[in-house]
Amino acid sequence: MPLVNMRDMLQHAYQNGYAVGGFDLVSLDFLDAIMAAGESQRSPLILSLAESHFEYYDFELAMAAAEQAAKRSSIPVAIHLDHGASYESAVKAINLGCNGVMVDASHEDFEGNVAMTKKIVDMAHACGVPVEGELGYVAGVEGEDAEKHPGEVIYTSVDEAKAYVQQTRVDCLAVSVGTVHGRMKGEPVLDFDRLQQINAALKIPLVIHGGTGLSDAQFKRLIENGVAKINYYTALADAAGRRMRDNVANDERCGYTGIVNGIQDAMRAEIERCMQNWGSAGQADAVLAAAQAWQPVHHVIIYNVNTDDASQVSNMMREGEKVLSQIPGVRRVITATAVQQDAKYQFSWLIEFVHQNVIASYREHPDHVAFADNLFRPIAGDRISIDFTQNYFPG
Ligand SMILES: [Zn+2]
Repeated sequence: MPLVNMRDMLQHAYQNGYAVGGFDLVSLDFLDAIMAAGESQRSPLILSLAESHFEYYDFELAMAAAEQAAKRSSIPVAIHLDHGASYESAVKAINLGCNGVMVDASHEDFEGNVAMTKKIVDMAHACGVPVEGELGYVAGVEGEDAEKHPGEVIYTSVDEAKAYVQQTRVDCLAVSVGTVHGRMKGEPVLDFDRLQQINAALKIPLVIHGGTGLSDAQFKRLIENGVAKINYYTALADAAGRRMRDNVANDERCGYTGIVNGIQDAMRAEIERCMQNWGSAGQADAVLAAAQAWQPVHHVIIYNVNTDDASQVSNMMREGEKVLSQIPGVRRVITATAVQQDAKYQFSWLIEFVHQNVIASYREHPDHVAFADNLFRPIAGDRISIDFTQNYFPG
């Protein structure tokens, strides 16, 4: 069950002077390679799904796979929406099982960035989910040559960072200190003085995007100055790409499995190297001890109705499934009818919340209030409602 609260995971890294990798995945090969590296290095890790990559895979299917991989692993894992573009995509990601989200409103002006980030933080915190903000602008596109996307790098200012974190209450902050997304020519020049000042002013975990191409020594200095999460994708995609080109060069008639043969090993070696260099290797057990387990809550209602109008009852259920499943923090809504006709209660709801915090925010949500007042309570006076949290037996 080692899905853990990402806020706790990053706090542990921040306080103990290492960084956790947020590895973007675009296929099951990536997922397998990331998990295998984490297991072999006993390292905490973040499975990262970037909204800009959703054209390459089905987000919903990838989430199911990522969650299954996390649940059967023995190392602490968090699942993160990378570069979430809107409030709606943040809600969708949380309801599909992400327990961390990034708001990317860094293209907006300061006020616009604060407004959008704050709206998402309020929603996410009501679901128990931590949020990564971004201030300044890290140019480029993940997995592509940086020079093809020259956009100007805008460095994060210390004063703005302070105001931004105070006003939005983000849990960690992606800063721009000279890295770019994608592949760089030559070694980037990083502004460590600026990073040191930002860290001293904020004292929260900092995040670096565009880690590909940095030297081991640069990573060490970033981590010494408060970086506790490093986003990493391009180098993995390149390692896989090199292997695929070799496979084709050795046998130009090879098919799909021949082309992808060995790419997991190539990516895994690169991820293991990062985990060792960033200091997350060997931290799995300490994080498991320090971090809260990420546990769903089952909101269960059993009830009888005071009407013989079967279509009124089924309409109420259908409307409830539709409306309630859209509320932030609701993973699924199941309505059911008793198998035994003489059962004491004839109907049930099972509503799964991503986190205990949702008990309160769900109760107050206007869509829930309207449904309960207008459709449900008038016909379901006889009911029992209880919230259950899943048992967790470590070890
Ligand atoms: Zn990024």
